Amino acid sequence: MLNVAIVGRPNVGKSTLFNRLIGKKLALVDDQPGVTRDVREGTAQIADISFRLFDTAGLDFAKKGTLAARMTEMSVEAAQTADVVLFMVDGRSGITPEDRTYADRIRKLGRKVVLLVNKTESRAANAGVAEAYALGFPDLLPISAEHGEGLDELYEILKPLTEKAAKKVEPDPDVARPLKLAIIGQPNAGKSTLVNAMLKEERMLTGPEAGITRDSIASRWSWRGREISLFDTAGMRRKSRVQDKVEKLAVGDALHSIRYAECVVVLLDATLPIERQDLTLCDLIGREGRAIVLALNKWDAVEDPQKKLRDVQSDIEDVLPDIRGMSIVTLSAKQGRGINKLMDAVFAADRRWNQRVSTGKLNRWLEEVVQRNAPPAPSGRRIKIKYMTQANARPPTFALFGNQLAKLPESYLRYLMNNMRDNFDLAGTPIRFHMRGGKNPYEEK
Ligand code: GDP
Ligand code: GDP
Repeated sequence: MLNVAIVGRPNVGKSTLFNRLIGKKLALVDDQPGVTRDVREGTAQIADISFRLFDTAGLDFAKKGTLAARMTEMSVEAAQTADVVLFMVDGRSGITPEDRTYADRIRKLGRKVVLLVNKTESRAANAGVAEAYALGFPDLLPISAEHGEGLDELYEILKPLTEKAAKKVEPDPDVARPLKLAIIGQPNAGKSTLVNAMLKEERMLTGPEAGITRDSIASRWSWRGREISLFDTAGMRRKSRVQDKVEKLAVGDALHSIRYAECVVVLLDATLPIERQDLTLCDLIGREGRAIVLALNKWDAVEDPQKKLRDVQSDIEDVLPDIRGMSIVTLSAKQGRGINKLMDAVFAADRRWNQRVSTGKLNRWLEEVVQRNAPPAPSGRRIKIKYMTQANARPPTFALFGNQLAKLPESYLRYLMNNMRDNFDLAGTPIRFHMRGGKNPYEEK
């Protein structure tokens, strides 16, 4: 979805426009008393187009000393992750030095900018519009946020951009789209047995038998109404007929499946100890940024299930802190048991993988964790994380803004990630951090 940010000095009418474009949903947005007002976001709509809208009006870092300059910096930084910046000025009051400061900084972001001259419902604003032209943004629209005037022209500008964004980005996960699933594991873990059991239970198979060619890589089926695209089903079915399976799992093959999939099930033979190879696979999935579910097969043949489960959990937690909290499911493919549980875990992992955390929540959380445990101060200068926003999902990806972020030690990043997993329902999901800043990009020529 197209990301659009509204930026401008206080009182020009940013919130008014935000409210108008978001509609009723707004009332729910992060406006709890006693909490720092923050970047608000929501899905905006003009006629048939919708886009993600950020309003930086409320950015108020009062506790750290309210400097107008600091607010400017923050809201411009927030705009950095947007595709389009709606830069708003007040047509009635004319262009102020503060507007010019904003203009300079916004220009340097290199984003598409639309200059909105607000409050132009009366003639009093004509001079302001003329002045605004001098700011040098070719896309200039006189509007009235309060009266809803000029929005049709905004629509004209945004429509092609939303269409372009829609082509680039995959559709919303809630919209019916097949979940791309892969099942990987050592030979003999029971992959073929599992796939056959799944397909037997679900009669809507359009897989191998239904004429899928030998080289097709995935077959579609649906599980309780949700479409699933299962990687390499045909290969697995074929393989089940081969008696002699001495070959070891090739990591290269696994990588192929992992890259294809959104969620990967790692199937282990629970009657055997966990092998290094299995952990390598899990690690690989984490590094490739996929959702992951660990499945312990042949549970019917495990002697001491309780102990086994404990052992696996501790093995995993020690070696794979990056996917801490991933789901572990026990099943018996042969008896057809535990398959519902497995699929539930798959859908849950996929949901977390698609998770979006609002910027408001994120920054309230950030403030808290940094207070509890401040970043280190290498050579006497404390590393500062000032602001955070989710830049992407699938996997959840966060942009961090601040000073000297490149120096943040691995241990501190892990502290943040683990804390985040607990706070935002991101257990078992790979998380990405992108560091921004260091040098202030707006200060440079
Ligand atoms: P923000 O600080 O930029 O978010 O500005 P607000 O949205 O809070 O608006 C500041 C003031 O401008 C409020 O009193 C609004 O009612 C007023 N305002 C907003 N849009 C318009 C408009 O199109 N015309 C006029 N005349 N006033 C407006
Ligand atoms: P693949 O190489 O991963 O595709 O493994 P297969 O599906 O061919 O299974 C390997 C062996 O494990 C076969 O002899 C299966 O019958 C057996 N197997 C698979 N699932 C189970 C299970 O849940 N319990 C038990 N006891 N054996 C299983």
